[in-house]
Amino acid sequence: MALEVARPPGGSPVDEVRGHIDILFRHTLGPYYERFFREMANGKIMGIKCTGCGVVLIPPRPYCSFCYAPTGEWVELSDEGRIMTYTACTCLSPASPRSRRTPSRL
Ligand SMILES: [Zn+2]
Repeated sequence: MALEVARPPGGSPVDEVRGHIDILFRHTLGPYYERFFREMANGKIMGIKCTGCGVVLIPPRPYCSFCYAPTGEWVELSDEGRIMTYTACTCLSPASPRSRRTPSRL
């Protein structure tokens, strides 16, 4: 790890530290997201059906967001749909590279 501190003239506070930090980590998705992304890689969009109210949840999860019953059956969904709402994220994470200023859409 090598860091370079940019000190502005005139005794101003440090406002930037440049450098590179190697971070090794493993992120596990868990059984629901793992299957969801594996199916997506094979061209399928999968949801999971609630055993209580019958709603199909996407992304899949172990419990229903509406009635809190456990989920059960996996269901393949159509690849067509309608966008009901979206969020434009213009904030950058501190981990975002400074060169990537493109906002994301959720
Ligand atoms: Zn439910």
